[in-house]
Amino acid sequence: MADFCLKCFNETWNKNLTEEQVLLCTDFCEGCAEEKPCVILVYDDKRRPCKFKLTSFFKRK
Ligand SMILES: [Zn+2]
Repeated sequence: MADFCLKCFNETWNKNLTEEQVLLCTDFCEGCAEEKPCVILVYDDKRRPCKFKLTSFFKRK
């Protein structure tokens, strides 16, 4: 599974999420190639955690 820090996540998926819209956990960022707080969960507009795993979120090709 690819993990990305918030900056790489936004760049990769062309999003503009803030730290308050995601749950971060220290992991290995594939973009920076170093340990950073990585996005593991994205909240929806009402601050509810989206139930999908990021892996399934990334599956759309
Ligand atoms: Zn990164």
